[in-house]
Amino acid sequence: MKLDSIMGKKALQCVRALWRLTKDFFYPPRCPVCDELTDAEGVLCEACAGRVQTMKEPVCKRCGKPLVDECMEYCTDCRKREHTYRQGKAVFVYQGGIRSSMYRFKYAGRREYAVYYAKEAARLYGGWVRRNQIDVIVPIPMYSWKRRQRGYNQAEVFARALGRELELPVDTRVVRRVRNTVPQKELNDRERARNLKNAFQLVSNIVEYKCILLVDDIYTTGSTMDEVAETLLDGGAERIYYICISIGAGF
Ligand SMILES: [Zn+2]
Ligand SMILES: [Zn+2]
Repeated sequence: MKLDSIMGKKALQCVRALWRLTKDFFYPPRCPVCDELTDAEGVLCEACAGRVQTMKEPVCKRCGKPLVDECMEYCTDCRKREHTYRQGKAVFVYQGGIRSSMYRFKYAGRREYAVYYAKEAARLYGGWVRRNQIDVIVPIPMYSWKRRQRGYNQAEVFARALGRELELPVDTRVVRRVRNTVPQKELNDRERARNLKNAFQLVSNIVEYKCILLVDDIYTTGSTMDEVAETLLDGGAERIYYICISIGAGF
């Protein structure tokens, strides 16, 4: 019996190693920032390793945007308006190499970059996630037709990689996007709010989770995050946090 399970484990290890070799042959690991070939999945090449910076203080205590002034607690945007989520964190500022990395992750099928983003997110915010007693990770949903067209939802890919790093469950069936919305960056504030009105719906009337970590690729004004957070709170969730891969600079 014991021997059987040892043999089973060995066989599984062999299959995994073989799979990795095959995958590396057809899809060799690439640096998630410059896209050059690199040693292993989720690892930066030597040139990028010293250049890429993850988020550091001071950041807005609400949305996680970097601040120029250390004495400030909140960014201009968060001082002006209330958010429905409690607090959010970002791994990178949306600029330079990270900007092009995010583009390839979103539009050019480079899903494997999620491994690197998730490792950095877990290194920076693993403690914060545990302190806030998060029950589940929920990615910001994409409209079904759009998801079929692109082949994947980048927020979901990141959520799954993060779930593996933090050993937390990922639930993609809590909330869905019921309307195809115009990209928020193309609209002004008022249009943004209208654009997202009733765009999200709970899959079932009651949300079973108390504390949810929303996950998205880019945070700009937070309207999307607020709208999804509100939908979840209406369903009975108590606290909503988020981690996004990158965020615009604050003031
Ligand atoms: Zn590189
Ligand atoms: Zn803020």
